[in-house]
Amino acid sequence: MKERISALLKREPQQEIVAAEGWVRTKRDSKNVCFLEINDGSCLKGLQVVIDKEKLSDPTVLNAITTGCSVICKGPIVASAGGNQTVEMASTDVTIIGECPVDTYPLQKKRHTIEYLREIAHLRARTNMFGAIARVRNTLSYAVHSFFQEQGFMYVNTPIISASDAEGAGEQFLVTTLDLDKLPRTEEGAIDYSKDFFGREAFLTVSGQLEGETYAMAMKNIYTFGPTFRAENSNTKRHLSEFWMVEPEMAFCNIEGDMEVAEAFLKYLFKAVLEKCPEDMAFFSKFVEAGMEETLRTIVDTPFAHLTYTQAIEELEKHNDKFEFPVSWGSDLQSEHEKFLTEVICKRPVIVTDYPKEIKAFYMKLNEDGKTVRGMDVLVPRLGEIIGGSEREADLDVLTKRMEELKLNPEDYWWYLDLRRFGSAPHAGFGLGFERLVQYVTGVANIRDVIPYPRAPKLADF
Ligand code: ATP
Ligand code: MN
Repeated sequence: MKERISALLKREPQQEIVAAEGWVRTKRDSKNVCFLEINDGSCLKGLQVVIDKEKLSDPTVLNAITTGCSVICKGPIVASAGGNQTVEMASTDVTIIGECPVDTYPLQKKRHTIEYLREIAHLRARTNMFGAIARVRNTLSYAVHSFFQEQGFMYVNTPIISASDAEGAGEQFLVTTLDLDKLPRTEEGAIDYSKDFFGREAFLTVSGQLEGETYAMAMKNIYTFGPTFRAENSNTKRHLSEFWMVEPEMAFCNIEGDMEVAEAFLKYLFKAVLEKCPEDMAFFSKFVEAGMEETLRTIVDTPFAHLTYTQAIEELEKHNDKFEFPVSWGSDLQSEHEKFLTEVICKRPVIVTDYPKEIKAFYMKLNEDGKTVRGMDVLVPRLGEIIGGSEREADLDVLTKRMEELKLNPEDYWWYLDLRRFGSAPHAGFGLGFERLVQYVTGVANIRDVIPYPRAPKLADF
């Protein structure tokens, strides 16, 4: 395979002629030499190519080189006289592969706002910022797999089109091929989904958990990593309508084991990105969130805090005057409360447990008090919830009763309930929103900038 620019930059100066392929970021011309900076996405830094015009058979080719055009440059890697790099390429052989007209190319040399770049999402990966985000995202995906694979977890692919609502929250996108102008009706006048593609109502999945549980109850430790969809009308900086979720599920595991894995997992991911993307992380620390690397290093070395929901509410109530939505026992925690808990009260990531059953999903294990469930959320500074998990209700009768209380039809979940009928075992798991993770480690304020093509209410461009 041809060498990427990241590898060329690591070479010692030598005579061998090598080729660099990429896109021109900048061009500086002087009388006798022309300097190009070429980037190919392999690293933040580009390769400086120095062209001695006098040695070119036809120096006019250089006129067509502009920001954005694609080129192949050949020459030896030599020691650089400039202060910004140790090596550069001395080239006398430059081929323009694709021209890039200056008057219409939307990415000029100047710095563009992140909002403007969102409108040209198909080109934004060519900027320093979005190149760095893409590399960090890639490193984190790989680290997700290596963490679980190293510990013997099996990667399971759960369906994207699903018939059950895993969260029971009714925030699902319907998948249908029915003609919306001529909907078939039953005698009672309801839409007749038996005429639909799947012969029943079907949705884009909100979580792979329920199906994941079925594999955990055979393989013991599994994880899923796939796209999930939520039709919630949340126009916030931390919600997307389509996002990627990592969901481990472990049999013979209780909430304590679940929390241990969640903490070890986050620390592993932070460490991986610090080790493997130092240049990009230094960029984020400098331009996006001051001290991001130091913050992550501290988190890796410090145990997470723990609070029960009840303790959290007691702490928050002392500061109710500071909140837009004051809290009392029973309130769902909003992002302002989550941030206050982790940033002000604990000053580090905190795991909140034992939430009132009313504000959590039907599958969470009921505590002996009959009021709270064994749910756990991991909250981090600046963002709030990054992980949501729980020990699952393993008792058939308790689970069935919970579903009835929540007006869910147990018959619709017959296969899920079978796990409690046939060899039930305590089990637990969690969901990490992958974009929240990328957002957190990069410090990028808006979740729409850490996924290549964000989907959100009224937004599905590209
Ligand atoms: P929130 O209260 O922040 O909306 P949630 O309680 O709905 O989160 P869960 O259903 O527990 O979240 O989902 C597990 C994880 O998935 C969350 O901890 C979060 O990291 C991520 N997540 C949930 N909803 C979204 C979304 N709309 N966009 C991006 N990530 C999300
Ligand atoms: Mn939500």
